[in-house]
Amino acid sequence: MSSNHIRNIRLDAYLREDVDKIVARVLRDLGSPEPPLRLDDVRELLRLDRAYYSSTDDSAAREVIHRLKVAGKQVIARPTLLKEAISKFNLRALWLPDRKRILIDDSLPDPKKRWSEAHEVGHTLIPWHKDTLFGDDKATLTPACHAQIEAEANYAAGRLIFLGERFANELDGHSTTIKALQTLQKRFGNSMTTTLWRAVEHSRVPMIGAISCHPKYRPPEFEDDNPLRYYIRSDGFEEMFGHIGEQELFAHIDGYCGYKRSGPLGEAEVVLSDAAGEAHVFKFETFFNRYDALTIGLHVKRASRVVGF
Ligand SMILES: [Zn+2]
Repeated sequence: MSSNHIRNIRLDAYLREDVDKIVARVLRDLGSPEPPLRLDDVRELLRLDRAYYSSTDDSAAREVIHRLKVAGKQVIARPTLLKEAISKFNLRALWLPDRKRILIDDSLPDPKKRWSEAHEVGHTLIPWHKDTLFGDDKATLTPACHAQIEAEANYAAGRLIFLGERFANELDGHSTTIKALQTLQKRFGNSMTTTLWRAVEHSRVPMIGAISCHPKYRPPEFEDDNPLRYYIRSDGFEEMFGHIGEQELFAHIDGYCGYKRSGPLGEAEVVLSDAAGEAHVFKFETFFNRYDALTIGLHVKRASRVVGF
C-alpha cells in the first residue's frame, strides 16, 4: 500500500496530551534548548546508544533478536540474527530496548536519518511501547504511517524535534507561506516535508499540504489516479472538505504551476466546495526543490455569492 492512500491518523486528545507532557519533561531536563534540537543531547540525557548499519559494515547489527514487530505485526518470535531480519524486512531503523540502542540504516539521506532517530526516540519515550521490539521499514517511517503505535512515535518525534509548542508559537508570528516554512525549516534543522507536516497539523484554519512530482515534468512511474505522494489535511479541512480527492487537488495545482525547474512554480486563488456545496477561496502556493513539488493551500474566505435576479 503506497503512502498516499494513508490518511492522517488522528490521535485522540488525551493521548496527545500524554505525549506532550512526556516530551515537555525531556525538553525541560535539557534546559529548554534553542532550535535546532541536538539529538546527541537527547540520547545522552536518556542514556541511549546509536549505531548505524550498512550493507558493507554490519558490525552494528551482529545481535541475536528474539522478537520483532514490523509495522505493528509480530514477524519474528524465535532467535534470529538481526542482520538477516534487517535485510529480509528492508528495515531502515530499529530500537533494541534491552540494549537501549537505536540502529539506523546508514544509506538513508541525512534529513531522513534525523527523522528516523527522532522516531525511534519516540518509541523509547512512550512507556507502553517498551515491551516490544520495533523494526521500521520504509513505509512505517514516513510521517503518514497508519499503525496506531507508529503514529504515536511519529507524533512524539514531531513534538521533540520541533521543540514542543515552540514551532507552533513561531509559526503564529508568520503568515503561513512556503517562504515562512523554509525559514522555520532551517531554524529547526528539519526536513521541508516534516516542517510542512507540522504546520498543517497545527493549522487552526482548513489547510492542506501536498507533496508530489513537478506537475509539468511527470516521471514515467506517475499514476494519474495517485498523483500525490503525501496529502496532508488539517482537522478543519478534513471536517469541511474531506470529500476532496487528490486528483481534483492535483488538477488545480497543475493549473497554476509554470515550467521552471526550481524555485516557486506559482500561486493562485483556488475555489473548493465544502461538504454542503458552498464555495470557498483558498490561497495555493507551490515550490519545487528539484526533488519534490511542495504545495500549501490555506483557507481564505467563503466565496461571495453571485446574486441572481
Ligand atoms: Zn516505529
